[in-house]
Amino acid sequence: MSDIIKLLPDHVANQIAAGEVVQRPASVVKELLENAIDAGATSIKLMVKDAGKTLIQVIDNGKGMSMTDARMAFERHATSKITTAEDLFNLNTKGFRGEALASIAAVAHVEVKTKRDSDSLGTLLKIEGSKVTSQEPTVTAKGTMISVRNLFFNIPARRKFLKSDQVELRNITDEFHRVAMAHPSIQFSFDHNDNSLFQLPTSTLRQRVVNIMGPKSNEKLVPVEEETELINISGFVGKPEFARKSRGLQFFFVNDRFIKHSYFHHAVVSAFEGLLKDKAIPSYFLFLTVPADSVDINIHPTKTEVKFDDEHSLYAIIRASVKHALGQFSVQGIDFNLEQQYEVPYEVARQSQAEKPRIEVNPDYNPFKDSGASKVSNSNVGFTSFKKEKAPVWESLYSGMNQSTELIDETIHQEENPQLFQREEHQQKPIFQLQRKYIVSTLKSGLLLVNQQRAHERILFEQLSKQLSKNHAVSQQLLFPVKLNFAVQEVLQLKELENHLEGAGFVFKTLKDNVVEVEGVPLELNENDVRTVLESVLDSKVTSEKDTSQLSLQLAGQLSKSMSIKTGAILSVQEMETIINQLFSCSEPQLTPDHKKIFINMTSESLDSKFQ
Ligand code: ADP
Ligand code: MG
Repeated sequence: MSDIIKLLPDHVANQIAAGEVVQRPASVVKELLENAIDAGATSIKLMVKDAGKTLIQVIDNGKGMSMTDARMAFERHATSKITTAEDLFNLNTKGFRGEALASIAAVAHVEVKTKRDSDSLGTLLKIEGSKVTSQEPTVTAKGTMISVRNLFFNIPARRKFLKSDQVELRNITDEFHRVAMAHPSIQFSFDHNDNSLFQLPTSTLRQRVVNIMGPKSNEKLVPVEEETELINISGFVGKPEFARKSRGLQFFFVNDRFIKHSYFHHAVVSAFEGLLKDKAIPSYFLFLTVPADSVDINIHPTKTEVKFDDEHSLYAIIRASVKHALGQFSVQGIDFNLEQQYEVPYEVARQSQAEKPRIEVNPDYNPFKDSGASKVSNSNVGFTSFKKEKAPVWESLYSGMNQSTELIDETIHQEENPQLFQREEHQQKPIFQLQRKYIVSTLKSGLLLVNQQRAHERILFEQLSKQLSKNHAVSQQLLFPVKLNFAVQEVLQLKELENHLEGAGFVFKTLKDNVVEVEGVPLELNENDVRTVLESVLDSKVTSEKDTSQLSLQLAGQLSKSMSIKTGAILSVQEMETIINQLFSCSEPQLTPDHKKIFINMTSESLDSKFQ
């Protein structure tokens, strides 16, 4: 009987290897970008058509290849990057397995144009499904251009398995971000279907992060810097208040290579303990530098997981450095740790109010008559300030609520409105803020405790849902349009919601590719918060598939949540009064749109009972 074991023909072996290395267009992008970096390029251009299904092209100005090397590069296990097994433990390059180009060429139409500085002519090589179809000398600049067309042309099942352009483009963008972020000293550009998505000049790491994440990200970054014997850590974490629920802004780099590491992720998250809102995930861009022989990256070509020596110690160091960075940042002024706040006694709080509050009251106000009076205007402190056209007195507001409550009736500026203070002269209405979270005041019947954030949420919700249902938006024009960069697919998502967002007061100038330009915003929205608010809409999975009225409510709910003043915001007396006035002119002042209690009213009887 004859022998039955045969060596697989090269092109078959290559296709099998390709299955591992090249799973989707994004894998090709990653390999090509990394090769360009390994070649010492200082400028790298990525051009993609149809999310990589038609074309992926990378042009670099690196060292190029000789005619022979260009051909060799497509052989399996052909690499210039390691020669001995020892080299494996001292890797300074991204690639080392010599598999990528061979794999890509096995499943696509590949064209390479390359030239070394020392050669006068370059070489042009074409390969289809592992077969060289032509190679000829060519005139070209120093460096390498690789075009990959018709990916998976010979594996229809694989091609069919590719996701929508949106999804594949997002994967490509992710890979691009990871590589570009790790190499701020290299200039990058990224075009999709001839639209420029990113132009990243040579810069510092901070500028690079900002160029990728958008101009507004600058103010959100807290630097992290720590040098120890085991590991050096540098980079940034996002301020806790900007943490979002969605993943995607978490980056670890080890020796300039993007990795995922759930254990270290946990270290960072735990350093934020107590600072994050419900389920929010902090963003981070952390560069870990460890000795090359203390980390094993030789696990799998496409895997981003790696193994470190002594992960427990590294965990502790990462956690401590992030904590330290956050601590320093909080000392520098923005105090987000509310638990450590002392309550400010009312008298002191009042004295510290620089501006004298003013209030005009219409004693005839009927809260159940829609007067349209409770309009708010934007202020530059990032939160609503108030025009008190016909601000109602709380007393009358409260009267419809089945509670025999009458406010202790007085107000602060009796000199200015003497006619209003007939009953208890010389007495100020106590109103103050507790822990930057609650507004405390009195009713004739006892004590009133209002959650400031929830109250404002309710107020905005009623205003916005009214606007949305009537499709009668009130917006304020911005002096200069705000230009924001989002991921392409996020812009598509916003585009779907465009009509509704406009109903809420947004005016878009551009919603195209990765650019969102906003010319007008809802009345209550500060222009600095536009990005955060749009992000929250994206995170909330409000989709256009729902029926319109339900969508309007959802959007109003989401917008009011993200636009509302937050726990932690310091309120002036005037602002607190207006919130209470507006709250009690809402049709449902008791509960937030998602049914959380907004205020507590403690009667003097129930107070008395506590002293029994
Ligand atoms: P690896 O990167 O693991 O060595 P690849 O298949 O990605 O394997 O590349 C094979 C070889 O081709 C590399 O070792 C390198 O010598 C050469 N090469 C690939 N891309 C480039 C490029 N853009 N510029 C110069 N040389 C390159
Ligand atoms: Mg490579």
